[in-house]
Amino acid sequence: MIKNNNGYFGEFGGSYVPEPLKEVLKEVEEKFYQFINDPEFLKELAYYQKQYIGRENPLYFAERLTQKIGGAKIYLKREDLNHTGAHKINNAIGQALLAKKMGKKRIIAETGAGQHGVATATVCALFGMDCTIYMGEIDIKRQALNVFKMELLGAKVVPVTRGTATLKDAVDAALEDFVENAHNTFYLLGSAVGPHPYPSMVREFQSIIGKEARKQILDLEGKLPDYIIAAVGGGSNAIGLFHPFVDDKDVKIIGVEPAGKGLDTPDHAASIVKGSVGIIHGFKCYTLQDEKGEPLPVHSVAAGLDYPGVGPEHSYYKSIGRADYVGITDKEALDTFFELSKIEGIIPAIESAHAVAYGIKLAKDLEKDKIIIINLSGRGDKDITQVKEML
Ligand SMILES: *Cc1c(COP(=O)(O)O)cnc(C)c1O
Repeated sequence: MIKNNNGYFGEFGGSYVPEPLKEVLKEVEEKFYQFINDPEFLKELAYYQKQYIGRENPLYFAERLTQKIGGAKIYLKREDLNHTGAHKINNAIGQALLAKKMGKKRIIAETGAGQHGVATATVCALFGMDCTIYMGEIDIKRQALNVFKMELLGAKVVPVTRGTATLKDAVDAALEDFVENAHNTFYLLGSAVGPHPYPSMVREFQSIIGKEARKQILDLEGKLPDYIIAAVGGGSNAIGLFHPFVDDKDVKIIGVEPAGKGLDTPDHAASIVKGSVGIIHGFKCYTLQDEKGEPLPVHSVAAGLDYPGVGPEHSYYKSIGRADYVGITDKEALDTFFELSKIEGIIPAIESAHAVAYGIKLAKDLEKDKIIIINLSGRGDKDITQVKEML
């Protein structure tokens, strides 16, 4: 049985939100813990995971990459092979199914880079639900292709013009809508962040990644991996891989944050490596903040890693030493984007290339009998134009 932790991972997490939002979140929390322990719900979820997302996806032995590096064996968990090309659909489908069970007919979400918006619009089409996506006006201009995709899938994309007209303001607009329309509306959050129950809920829906990987490596190698590695933006693909291994004390866990132009410059988004404890978007975590506790501007070549906070469960694992967090720069990630494409025929998302880049560094110095699993969170098709323009 999955128990309600009331939102706390040590001192991290919680729910620092105004009273009207608290009430609305209470309903989501109650229904989530009811359905996540309901065999009928789980059966239906498993059906869509297999028939719609295409799970289980492979745990692929990257043989040529391993040979070239000449160290530990590198396995890639192929989330890039999911329908829509990344891990985000795992969570979107779980939350949409929950919304359906709760009798909600309307889904809202916010999106920055557009990937979560596309995943949400996709599952709304699948379940025939009304879909509204809030997006900063600036992001709409930057991510025109994703906006077109969302509209193609039947979603309404609402431009947010207030404040900086980016993700932060889109979050505010979505929350206001949620409080106002909660009777028929479900807020589908895209990463393992935000107030309770979202970090726990997103982790449950993403932990299919680690559950599959754990079973697959035991089948393939007859033992657990020595290291598991994933890129950390808000932290959903990483916690999905990590969580089923947390009690396996000999498995080392490494989260890779975007070091942007360098950890000693202001242009990065390494919330754990360089941040301090604070409250952002209704929860406590490591965050990049100024003296007043306001989120600092962040930078990464990977739009999906560009967030000044990080999930509370990662913050907790960092604080107790269960997981290590490291940085990979824009340049290192881009080099790996090219390397993995050439050597394995797999074009990775630039986000995922951060994890692979660190895995390669690590593998070099390890014995050949060591095993590393890297989460390939998404495919790089979405990044092709950006990379081409940078050349
Ligand atoms: C959104 C995204 C990420 C970062 O989000 P998390 O919540 O940290 O997983 C990583 N990889 C890809 C491919 C993404 O689309």
